[in-house]
Amino acid sequence: MNLILLGPPGAGKGTQAQELERRHKLVQLSTGDMLRAAIASGSDLGNEVKTIMDAGELVPDDIMIRMISERIDQPDCANGFILDGFPRTTAQAEALDKMLDEKDMKIDHVIEMSVDSEVLIKRIAGRFSCAGCGAGYHDEFQKPVQDGVCDHCSKTEFTRRPDDNPETVRTRLDTYEAQTAPLLPYYRGKESLRTVDAMAEIDVVTAEIETVIGGA
Ligand code: AMP
Repeated sequence: MNLILLGPPGAGKGTQAQELERRHKLVQLSTGDMLRAAIASGSDLGNEVKTIMDAGELVPDDIMIRMISERIDQPDCANGFILDGFPRTTAQAEALDKMLDEKDMKIDHVIEMSVDSEVLIKRIAGRFSCAGCGAGYHDEFQKPVQDGVCDHCSKTEFTRRPDDNPETVRTRLDTYEAQTAPLLPYYRGKESLRTVDAMAEIDVVTAEIETVIGGA
């Protein structure tokens, strides 16, 4: 089963993708995480994209399309994957359709995570993740069971994203409206889009997504 999670920054795509990964043995393909790993490794690609990401703008389509195409070819994707943060432009969506066609694969569900933009800045401002396993947390909505200790790998180091500051978040939300929101009618036209209310509690959203994918 292959899924796309669509929604603005802060909608909870990463949180739900991690949940789906655990429940269904799917692989979370977060293009944001891949790019952050490239930056951390100091690679040429990382150096090229750092300024763009710090400004909250989009990395060029050709880079992203190549990155996803190569990643989908890895053996761990054979059981299915969850695209989190890709596609983000119409060009990326069209390229994805073409590449999946060529690989004889398809997307089973496109899930729109719908949120009120007012809450997004608050959600984004409080989030952090485990430096060891990448599990996502939030100061208010999703604290580790034991303060300062990761629930999943017991590491005690956490990180916050540099682009999660209020000013960059505004740019990222504008970028979403201008470049990614047009994908909603694109997928609606293909009749594969389902919308879940991502304002609800995390486990309620998870249950809603389960209903969508269970009804395949
Ligand atoms: P995310 O972690 O999904 O919020 O992505 C963080 C940043 O990575 C974005 O603000 C973009 O600069 C870049 N990025 C991630 N995915 C894509 C994509 N599919 N296309 C272009 N830029 C992306």
